[in-house]
Amino acid sequence: MRICLLAGYVACAGILLGDFTPKWNQPIPPYRVSSNLYYVGTNYLASFLITTPQGHILINPDYEESVPLIRASVEKLGFHFSDIKIILISHAHDDHAAGSALAKKLTGAKLMVMDGDVDEMEKGGAGDFQYRQHWTPAKVDRILHDGDNVTLGGTTLVAHLTPGHTKGCTTWTTEILDRGHLYHVVIVGSPNVNSGYQLIGNSKYPGIAADYEKTFRVLASLPCDIFLGAHGVYYDMDDKLKKLQPGGSNPFIDPEGYRAYVAEREQAFRAELATQKEHGPVSR
Ligand SMILES: [Zn+2]
Repeated sequence: MRICLLAGYVACAGILLGDFTPKWNQPIPPYRVSSNLYYVGTNYLASFLITTPQGHILINPDYEESVPLIRASVEKLGFHFSDIKIILISHAHDDHAAGSALAKKLTGAKLMVMDGDVDEMEKGGAGDFQYRQHWTPAKVDRILHDGDNVTLGGTTLVAHLTPGHTKGCTTWTTEILDRGHLYHVVIVGSPNVNSGYQLIGNSKYPGIAADYEKTFRVLASLPCDIFLGAHGVYYDMDDKLKKLQPGGSNPFIDPEGYRAYVAEREQAFRAELATQKEHGPVSR
């Protein structure tokens, strides 16, 4: 049992030890988002492959049980899983990060994680301020800080600290040249206030509300043409996939959708904060 859905948006992370949600882990065909950026995730857990001449970058290994599905998707696209050189995550919750150790073992890739999430990754999810998580610990090879670049084979990703959902929640941006156009890509880490998150008087995360404030400032400041996120539902993936046609316009180019999403999520955060200010700590 998970407590995840919030106003139609996916929050995430299990509330039980070793939790795994099979219905989030159904295979779907991989697809090209744009240029050298591909979707290799499941029906519900977004994973992205960025290919380069010097090897590939994988964002989000998801659950351990997801790794074989991601591998099959990478191979279906014609790439080698073993050519993945760098593994990144959206944030240190099980549904995005629990497969990191297995993905490292299979590829030999370097795991690079924002400083606020490093501890959880190396302790297999233990120490999260909200959830009792438990997965195979994964050694972090490079600790990232806000604004750091991750570069491979001519592609650069920028790590933006967007904390609150986890202390090291990371929104990734990059620029992609596709058919003569330069596009700003944003992969949202998560702006969601999960059910039960205590925004006021949180002894395990005293700065949580201020961190969400920072997150919304950052998300509002990012130029975005191609809107993606840690779950497909953030960016209406299923609807956009139906519109994906060879030679047609790219449905993932959606700057208005990005702005609307960020504004709606900020409004949801402010409403929750106001409720908690009025009624005290959450009891839900
Ligand atoms: Zn999460």
